[in-house]
Amino acid sequence: MPEQERKVPRSMAGMLRAALIWVGMLSLVLSALGSAFLFHRAYAAQFDRDLARTAAAVAAGYQNADAPQPADLARFDTGLRLTLIAADGRVLYDSLTDDPASLPNHSDRAEVRAALESGSGQSVRKSETAGMETHYYALRLADGTVLRLADETSDVWGSYNHALPILLVGCLLIALLAAVMAGLIARRLVRPITRMAEHLDTIEADVPYEELIPLAHTVQSDRKLREDNETIRREFTANVSHELKTPLTSISGYAELIENGMARPEDIPGFGARIHKEARRMIALVSDILQLSELDGMSKDTSRDSTADFVTLDLESLVRDVASGMTMNARKAYVTLQYHASPAPVRGSRDLLNELATNLCDNAIRYNRPGGHVDLNCGIGPDGCPYLCVEDNGIGIPQDAQSRVFERFYRVDKSRSKATGGTGLGLAIVKHIAVLHNARIDLKSTVGTGTSVRVIFPKV
Ligand code: ADP
Repeated sequence: MPEQERKVPRSMAGMLRAALIWVGMLSLVLSALGSAFLFHRAYAAQFDRDLARTAAAVAAGYQNADAPQPADLARFDTGLRLTLIAADGRVLYDSLTDDPASLPNHSDRAEVRAALESGSGQSVRKSETAGMETHYYALRLADGTVLRLADETSDVWGSYNHALPILLVGCLLIALLAAVMAGLIARRLVRPITRMAEHLDTIEADVPYEELIPLAHTVQSDRKLREDNETIRREFTANVSHELKTPLTSISGYAELIENGMARPEDIPGFGARIHKEARRMIALVSDILQLSELDGMSKDTSRDSTADFVTLDLESLVRDVASGMTMNARKAYVTLQYHASPAPVRGSRDLLNELATNLCDNAIRYNRPGGHVDLNCGIGPDGCPYLCVEDNGIGIPQDAQSRVFERFYRVDKSRSKATGGTGLGLAIVKHIAVLHNARIDLKSTVGTGTSVRVIFPKV
């Protein structure tokens, strides 16, 4: 991957730190705002109650006199603004001015109107001073005038402003705390993951977090697959070397005899024939190995679709070709070869399917008896799927070996396989080709009665 395209992994500690800082700040600001609001509400309610109580006390004192006059109110120095308003809204007395008549008519003030209507009223208005508000409480007196008390207190933002420095210091502390905690938490979180990465062989048993179970599972299966592949490769190499060593040893032996002049002239054609036979065996083996590795490459190459070159072809003509190609072999083994071909369209590679049918026919002839017969047929099965079937009445395959004959180099009877030119790879190739075509193989066999191998293809 080019350098600039590689994704730089993000720091988990950094992400945690940022998240913690954000959460901390947000909760601090929200709780500061919430508590300022709630506190202000409770405080304002208490403030109003006190105002009402003072107003009631002043009203009682004022009305106690025989003939109360507005100017008498000057006696009640409560430190609060005190106003007396006539029923028509004229201001009769105001503790802030000596000339109450100069004040505008108060009949439109909410608290005054409420007091005139229901006996008492209150309201809150924004003060001219920023961050302050004025609370009013008005009380209708017995003579029909309204006594009003007013006092100033800080509004909700005013209370909040007081808390601002504390809030800022709080944010700073939280950021510091978050940085320290994120470091600690990240270390605690990461430690088990590092430990997990160091012990890959027990990864699935020691998953520290449930979120990592899928990852552990993938790593474990990947490891298992690798180990299995490694074992298969090692066994395959050992098998190939062994299979090649036997013919090479005999070729070398015969050649040595001829080279040293130890072979009698009349033996030479016989030795030559053996050398030729062993060489043919090796060629067959090598070409089967090449074929298998090509098939392996096709199924493992994820960069391109292995079925891209597949075409729709009819098994009918393929069966005819294979049957005519195998007639000579069958005759040599005193086996009759018949075929029954019906139209059976499949998607696939003609060469590979030819190889598959040839291998199956070859086995049916080789593991047969003189006088036996082989039946090659194709068509559409009862399930609507195209199939190709090779049946023989040969020696059959024992039950316990039936699942293993598709393994590389597995043979039921090694000497018979070798004597008939088998490489032990024929059915492995058949299976590989079937898998590439999404086909399944159905093998039925009884020792002494015969074998039937049916390859069932998906519908086109
Ligand atoms: P080989 O080259 O030895 O024939 P294959 O992979 O084609 O290898 O087959 C594996 C083994 O399966 C053979 O060695 C043989 O023992 C058995 N086998 C395959 N086909 C038949 C058959 N039609 N009848 C009996 N045995 C068979």
